[in-house]
Amino acid sequence: MEESVEDIVHKWLSQHKEGSLNNRSFRDYWRRTVPLIYAPQPNFNPMHIEEQEEQSTKLLTDPLHQFIAGSSTPDKVYNSIRELDAAPALCGYVFNAGEPTYGCRDCGFDPTCVLCSDCFKASPHTKHRYKMSTSSGGGYCDCGDTEAWRSDAFCSVHAKGTQGICMSSHKQLDPDLVSRIQIVMECIIDYVRDMLTLSEGLSLPSDLELPDAEPTRNPNLYKMMDVYCAVLYNDESHTYDQVIAALERAIKCTKKEAVTFVTFIDREGRCVIRCSGFQACQQVKSAMDRMAISQASKPFIVKIFRSHIQAHQSFASQLLVWLDKLLEKGNAIKAIFSEVIFSCPSGDNMTMLERIMWTDNELCKATRIQWHKLFISGLLMDFETKKRFARLFTKHYSKMMKTFIADDHEHSVCIVSLGVQLFTMPTIAHMLIAEEAVIAKLILTFITECTTRIKNGKLFPLSQNANLSNLEQGSMTPTEFRRVQFILFDLKYLLGMTPLTWTDQLRKGFLHGFNQIIKLFCMMQNMDPVTRKEGSHVEFEQEWEGSFNLHIKMSPILPQIVDWASSDRVVLIKAMRMLLKALNEHGCEGLQKRFMREAAGHTVCCIEYDVSKSPVSMHIVLTRLCGSLAVQLQRYDLSYNSPEFPTKDKPSLKEFIEPSLRTLVMVSQCKAGMWRRNGMALTNQTYFYRNVRCRQEMMDKDVLVLQNAAALMPPDDFLISLLNRFNLMSWQRPDYETTYLWSRDDDNIRQTVVILEEFCQLLLYIVAERYVVGVAQVEASDVTKHEVIHLLCVQNMTHSSINKQLPEGTNHETGMEQIIDDIADFKKASGEVKGYYELKTKFYDMYNIFFYHYSKEEQSKSEVEHRERCKKLGREVCCPPPPVPPFTPAFAPIRNIFNCAVFRHLLHEVFSRWSDERSKSVTETSVQVCLHLLGVACYEELHTPGFLTNPGELRQVLQLLQANNSTASLLSLIAWTRRKLEEAFPEKEKPAGSVDVAADSVTSIADAAVNAAADTEELDEKQRKAKASQERKQKILNKMAKMQKNFVKSHKALFSEESTVEDRPSESEVEQMEVCDLMPDEMVALGPKQTLPHSTSFSQTCIVCHMDESMCQGAAGSDESKNLLVVGVMVQPSTVLARRRREFNTLDQPLYLPADLHRGIHVSSCGHPMHVHCWKLYYIKVIQKEQRRNYRMRQGTNIDVERSEYLCPLCECICNDAVPLLPPPTQPLFGGSITQGDILVTPQQWLHGLHVIHTNKVARTVHASAPELSDSLSDEEDSTAVAGVWLPPDLPSVTSRLTSDMNSSCAASNFLKMFTSEYNTTMSNLLPTSDQVMWDFAHSIFRHGLDQNPNLADERILGCTLASLAYTIRSHEEVQRYEGRALLTGISSRQHLFLSSLTATAAYIPSNQCSKQMPQVSTSAAVCVLRDVLGASSVTLLEMDCFSAAVSLVLLLPGIFSPTHATAKGGLQDQYVLQLCFLGHIVQLLLTYDRTFPEDQTPMEDTDEVQEAVLGSWVAAEEEDPMDKECEDSSGSEHDASWLLALFHQSRDAVGLPPLHVNAATLLAHIKERCLPFLRCAGLFFHLLTGCAAPAELSSSVWVPESEYYCLLRYLGLSTSLAQSLQPFASVVKVWLAHPRLLKCLKVPTFDGDRALTVNKLYPLLKDYSEFISEVASFACPSSTVGEKSSTPTICLVCGTMMCSQTYCCQTELPDATKQMVGATTAHAHTCCAGSGMFLRVWDCTVIFRTGKYKGCYFTPPYLDQYGEADMGLRRGNPLFLNAESYSRLHAKWLQHLIPETVSRTLAAASTHVFSIDWQHV
Ligand SMILES: [Zn+2]
Ligand SMILES: [Zn+2]
Ligand SMILES: [Zn+2]
Ligand SMILES: [Zn+2]
Ligand SMILES: [Zn+2]
Ligand SMILES: [Zn+2]
Ligand SMILES: [Zn+2]
Repeated sequence: MEESVEDIVHKWLSQHKEGSLNNRSFRDYWRRTVPLIYAPQPNFNPMHIEEQEEQSTKLLTDPLHQFIAGSSTPDKVYNSIRELDAAPALCGYVFNAGEPTYGCRDCGFDPTCVLCSDCFKASPHTKHRYKMSTSSGGGYCDCGDTEAWRSDAFCSVHAKGTQGICMSSHKQLDPDLVSRIQIVMECIIDYVRDMLTLSEGLSLPSDLELPDAEPTRNPNLYKMMDVYCAVLYNDESHTYDQVIAALERAIKCTKKEAVTFVTFIDREGRCVIRCSGFQACQQVKSAMDRMAISQASKPFIVKIFRSHIQAHQSFASQLLVWLDKLLEKGNAIKAIFSEVIFSCPSGDNMTMLERIMWTDNELCKATRIQWHKLFISGLLMDFETKKRFARLFTKHYSKMMKTFIADDHEHSVCIVSLGVQLFTMPTIAHMLIAEEAVIAKLILTFITECTTRIKNGKLFPLSQNANLSNLEQGSMTPTEFRRVQFILFDLKYLLGMTPLTWTDQLRKGFLHGFNQIIKLFCMMQNMDPVTRKEGSHVEFEQEWEGSFNLHIKMSPILPQIVDWASSDRVVLIKAMRMLLKALNEHGCEGLQKRFMREAAGHTVCCIEYDVSKSPVSMHIVLTRLCGSLAVQLQRYDLSYNSPEFPTKDKPSLKEFIEPSLRTLVMVSQCKAGMWRRNGMALTNQTYFYRNVRCRQEMMDKDVLVLQNAAALMPPDDFLISLLNRFNLMSWQRPDYETTYLWSRDDDNIRQTVVILEEFCQLLLYIVAERYVVGVAQVEASDVTKHEVIHLLCVQNMTHSSINKQLPEGTNHETGMEQIIDDIADFKKASGEVKGYYELKTKFYDMYNIFFYHYSKEEQSKSEVEHRERCKKLGREVCCPPPPVPPFTPAFAPIRNIFNCAVFRHLLHEVFSRWSDERSKSVTETSVQVCLHLLGVACYEELHTPGFLTNPGELRQVLQLLQANNSTASLLSLIAWTRRKLEEAFPEKEKPAGSVDVAADSVTSIADAAVNAAADTEELDEKQRKAKASQERKQKILNKMAKMQKNFVKSHKALFSEESTVEDRPSESEVEQMEVCDLMPDEMVALGPKQTLPHSTSFSQTCIVCHMDESMCQGAAGSDESKNLLVVGVMVQPSTVLARRRREFNTLDQPLYLPADLHRGIHVSSCGHPMHVHCWKLYYIKVIQKEQRRNYRMRQGTNIDVERSEYLCPLCECICNDAVPLLPPPTQPLFGGSITQGDILVTPQQWLHGLHVIHTNKVARTVHASAPELSDSLSDEEDSTAVAGVWLPPDLPSVTSRLTSDMNSSCAASNFLKMFTSEYNTTMSNLLPTSDQVMWDFAHSIFRHGLDQNPNLADERILGCTLASLAYTIRSHEEVQRYEGRALLTGISSRQHLFLSSLTATAAYIPSNQCSKQMPQVSTSAAVCVLRDVLGASSVTLLEMDCFSAAVSLVLLLPGIFSPTHATAKGGLQDQYVLQLCFLGHIVQLLLTYDRTFPEDQTPMEDTDEVQEAVLGSWVAAEEEDPMDKECEDSSGSEHDASWLLALFHQSRDAVGLPPLHVNAATLLAHIKERCLPFLRCAGLFFHLLTGCAAPAELSSSVWVPESEYYCLLRYLGLSTSLAQSLQPFASVVKVWLAHPRLLKCLKVPTFDGDRALTVNKLYPLLKDYSEFISEVASFACPSSTVGEKSSTPTICLVCGTMMCSQTYCCQTELPDATKQMVGATTAHAHTCCAGSGMFLRVWDCTVIFRTGKYKGCYFTPPYLDQYGEADMGLRRGNPLFLNAESYSRLHAKWLQHLIPETVSRTLAAASTHVFSIDWQHV
């Protein structure tokens, strides 16, 4: 007997009492039990583990609980533990990957401080500037952590909490209990570690091994000894598809099974893929290896385990989860856990925690995540424990980092990722810096790991696309280098918060770290140097991205270091000393050669270095860091020259600026085109040098370094050093033009001129770019303001684009929101235009054309923009320098440059050479820049009067400028400078000595002024002339436009391109009006009073061959020169109109639409005509072109040739077939004019005639090959014939029957006349080709609509064509109604052309002669519809869409006696059909007026009696009609109302509903309102069928439903009194109402009167996106059995169903013939939206359009931020709200069936992208 669970627990407890209990006791039990439960058997399925879990709980984990509980019960014990807990003050919820997190930009200390959605919802931050993002997994909610938030650290839930985990809370527990928990935990941790780090699967630790000879009571244990498992592990180097493909072949499973395996591996990290003998497992392993080789991928990780070992591993993973649950039982347990994990097992010098940290990389993904979760919930919630953990973490940082770098798992699942949880907490960070030297440790780790990339003390970074063949053996790979850089993130976290108080220990710790940082920076100083290439072009592009990537990662740390170092005087001095020393040694090379240089009488000793010949680097981080620190010195009254920094230990100022200067000169030379041969690598580097991502720590700092030096050096020395480095020493010589210039080639001259421009601009930057805190008296916000002003000077910008253009602070904040409202006005979004900012007028003066962050393009664009603005305001057009803020005292000496001789000399040379027209050595730009320099000097003088020592000289220099060859803009700038100079030095204060000069200057200024005035006059003259010529030109243009317009008018059919969506009264309306003007007032489309149009033969032009073709193809098919035209159409199944959603069966395709419209076929077109042969040729070309593409390429294309898609050759809209352009059947060419008035058949006679037809029908035997229709109609009647297929009786028998019934041969013959060709149209006059084209079109509707290939004789083809016409018209009506438009408003002539052709085609189809079957099919279809409409079949009134039934009956009835092949054209019979169906619709509305039913009603079941009951009621109906008497000849709405009320009561009474009291007038109004859609559809249909012009009201721009109702009644030839026009048909009402299934249909709302007026809406989304996210957050994957949360919750915007998109978990088989595996949206769209759907992927806020299997696109989501911008992918994270306008745009796309079109256009626009998405798996 096996011992029972109770025995075991009892044994453990007694051992515990004796003190002899240890790990072995548990392990011995597990040794025997675990394999029984967990060991996989051959052919076991890893997915079916429910039974296993049940067993495991019972036999393995429950005993543990019981043991812990001791003599009590587990529940009692845990409750008592929980009672010790106070409410928690910390949340600590651990995020899963993909879950939403919320930060607060107002309160969070840094972007890593986040809340879970529960805490966020309950926190005050919802009202702040919060930020949403999605977690990459592993982090936890910071709610309650006061160090994470400046304010509002608690949500309302956690505010009630009082404590974290109190680590001593377990002291209050029974020590015995504590000891039992300890033992269990120790044992579990030990066991888990042992099991999950087993790398070899063949032997277990001896105490778990089953000895061969152990007598066992369970023989099963030994049966498993020889079973082995092949286990596949998760890795990061294979894609899902690779693994699936490999599995399919290696273990011969289905794709579906492979997908399940892969999903499991992704979640659990590993999965048993084969369980059997060792050999078989080995075969699987080698098969997988072979697959890897054939895929050319890395090998798969497949390990073979003994089944027993696999069992123990499974159990170990389970135990870890169990442990997590145990910790949740109370904080005391967490306290015990931390005690256990911090303890060292006996005989070990390391704690358990350290052991786990060390083995992290050996574990699989799921185990790691589980451990990390345990650490967070068990250790990090208590401050003291967290500190302890942080110390250990720091201690082992190097080792953990090393294993992480070698590992291949993502950072987020490695133990090192916990760094962010520790280092971002300021107290812990400061403690670690002070006590654990963590900075030094991090940097040392970095340096050590990079050793192989360090040569001669310099670092050589690597980028991902580095040329690997150049790598030396053993050197680190690019991937490894990328992983090393994670250290820099940790450093950034550590330095996140500058200390408020410093201790000596902290100083020491920081400086120690700083020293290491400097060491690293020394290795980075001058890395990746470039030498100018002369002669030939470089052969290989230099590797450069690695260094820049490193720079980007490093740059957020630099300002942090500066903040830290400058927050304490001692630290600053020591740090500066270290830095200067390092600079002295490693700052720069090539400093030895010195030469004397002379300019303007000054001689200076300069360093000689030719940038164009020697190496230069962009990376000089030491120099730049020194520049930033030097700015900070002034805070403590220090400077570069202070005695604290001895001269011998620092570079001289000239040496200090040398690296920055070289870089700047190199960039200038690049601009001058001197480095072209160095290739793209250098172009890219210079681009990034000044790009917003890098410039802060590159170009800006280089300018700052020069500003530092300029403030300290003698100005002449400084300028000469600059000139020398720019190689401008010879240029500055006064005799340059005469002595030097002639000897140079053109290239050199051109280059020098650009270099000069660059030099002048650099000088301007040094004196004028002051928006840096510390340089001038500005705040950080001024800096941002200045930046944004200049961005807005270039153009108006959206919120996000401004943000993108601004440098981010360390917290990813640009500070833009705080200042933007001061300087710009926000213009709200309207329509498709996003909201944008426009600069306020008063800031125009701040514009600086030479702003140093402008690129060349931005500069010229901003200048144009500025001119426009000035002109608009009527200001002088001029771009002077903007006022500058005053320097700080430390930087004020820079101004001395204005006073120095070299400066004056420079201006002199520039101005005087410019005035000499022959000069080639100066450009206008240099002059402009120099004028700006002068302007800045004036500002300084105005600010500090008397500051300039030599105003006379400046004045003099300006005199040199002659106005001769200057442009207007330069002239205005000169004038501005003169005025400014005048303002700074008013005349009277002229120094006495310079009278002559002054006098001169006065005259010359006057001259210049006169000149300038003359110039402007001249300019005016020029402008006037220009204007005159412009006007002339305009006149001519207008004339041409007019002519063109006339041309367009005469060919409007070709040119009118208006889409129906456009709401403005476009040309089409005008056109409509014009047609109407020609018509008599009263227009009637139907019945005896029909007003037929004159023959309107107009021609269309083929868009392919451009030949005109007459639309109405004469009277003869004999004319061979005539060709048929077609228009391209898009046929798509649709559920847009569905009143309810239900299963769709393709066999269930009746001859008209069902009342719930649940699915139909929609046809749309752009209406561009083509010859049928032109179209065919074009289509064949498209197919051929597509077939030439290979399969892979076809994935991303926008047309699917297998679905016969192509693009319209003119407008490129997507089509999949073509419909012929046919004239309406009313055209006179079909048989001349007929007077319809001579048929005298009363409605009663007509009804009787129909009755005769359907009662005398004959059964028809169905052709053997045709599919069975019987299935769908099985609940019907006789079994003698194939059900539902009838033929009408022959004509003579009907005649005789009628004659006898009516006692009048006249009435009988009149009735039969309705079916002869005289009153209907015959087909014979159409072009012979039309038949075939129509036939093809009908097939194609069937194919696209039902997604099936039709049998040629399939009878459903006819039904599809008729129903698709009705559906298209209904859909059109709904769009018009939704837009609030009259029936025909805004329909373009192309739409009209297409719709009438579609109608004509449907009208001719029943008599099509392409199929021998067709005549029979259409006559039997006619009988079928007739019976349904007359209530004589199993179909009830409530199941029919009356409009669609009317369409089918009108089009089928004329051909009911097959020989005639006639087509309806709006005669008396058609009017009667309409009246009959209209009455039916009204009865439908009356029946559903009130939908409350008495409970006890049980509907009669369908039986054979149904048919008899139906027939019986017919006979009764014919005999008497109670309503007949009261409605003789009265009219008026009062009468209508009472007639309706009577009908209402009759209807309710007939189905057995209780009487209801209703006001007659109310009822009438109700019905009138609701039947308008029916009338509109009918109006449109008969308008299209007959071509009768419609009354103007139907296309008016104002829609008045009430009046349209009457208008339509008149147009349809009906009386305005309902009673009058419908009462004659009342006999049928009785039949309808007597239908036994009516009540049943009423209860299941097949027809719903309440929805008669509603247009389907998209799913109502929540207004606040954050609320939406949190609602969705708990959504579990629908295919997960354990309720796992979905990783990509996606909502169907049509029905609101949630699913996982683009995941393997939710792939399903497509419910069609292919049974293909597809993603969830593909499958859902297939059923819910008939293939074309819209989805919102919630967590990244992206709308997905899907159409067909292989196509889709992303679309802008309807959620917008306060700036009117969407945020696809939540990149910015601003609060988002549902924008109604944006959502209604989506709605409109759906309603108008534009999804395929949108997808096609988007894909076409994106087809150049390399990246394409496998849409079928989305
Ligand atoms: Zn929380
Ligand atoms: Zn909270
Ligand atoms: Zn806040
Ligand atoms: Zn053509
Ligand atoms: Zn087109
Ligand atoms: Zn799923
Ligand atoms: Zn749906």
